[in-house]
Amino acid sequence: MNDIERNLYNIQASIPKEVTLVAVSKTKPISDLMEAYEAGQRVFGENKVQEMVEKWESMPKDIHWHMIGHVQTNKVKYMAPFVSLIHAVDSYKLLKEIDKQAKKYHRVIDCLLQVKIAEEESKFGLDKQDIISLLNSEEVKTLTNINIKGLMGMATFTNNQQQIKAEFEKITILFNAIKSKYSNLKTLSIGMSGDYKTAIDCGSTMVRIGSSIFGARNYG
Ligand SMILES: *Cc1c(COP(=O)(O)O)cnc(C)c1O
Repeated sequence: MNDIERNLYNIQASIPKEVTLVAVSKTKPISDLMEAYEAGQRVFGENKVQEMVEKWESMPKDIHWHMIGHVQTNKVKYMAPFVSLIHAVDSYKLLKEIDKQAKKYHRVIDCLLQVKIAEEESKFGLDKQDIISLLNSEEVKTLTNINIKGLMGMATFTNNQQQIKAEFEKITILFNAIKSKYSNLKTLSIGMSGDYKTAIDCGSTMVRIGSSIFGARNYG
């Protein structure tokens, strides 16, 4: 068994089976992704549209591609034919563009709203009020080619597990509150290599794991 295969098995064994594992393959070569594919992995996450398109073109077509990074509206058109979930939607403008591009391909594209949970001033994400406004908005209801499936969040980049836990609990409380009103919301995408066990304890339904599967990234 190779390293990637072994890592995948160990992680799969440590998470409940109703939690979806997104294998975050950004910066990694196709050969690494294919090792994960051969081991049975079908959900891959990338954070750059161009890189995801190139990998989609050269890999088997039964893969579910998740865009987990910040998306610029002018890039949506390149992934609209195939992307299965866009995690980090943080504006009405972006939702509108996803809807427009999805229509061209007669698709409905699933989206998650990115919540700003980290205490540090992060650049991206919506606060509680923004999320509620978007979900209630009449304009959003007219977008028939997008489907808002839940929330995504990233904890502060820190080793302080207490702080991470507090941030995940905060997003879970928000998720549960809105889920009771919007039954369509089923996905809570929280947890990465360093904090996925905490995230699952807090109610995560989808973890995004990169380095614990593929090894450290080299941005050289
Ligand atoms: C890179 C990345 C991950 C995976 O990070 P690891 O620590 O390598 O597991 C998860 N989510 C997002 C949004 C990322 O950009």
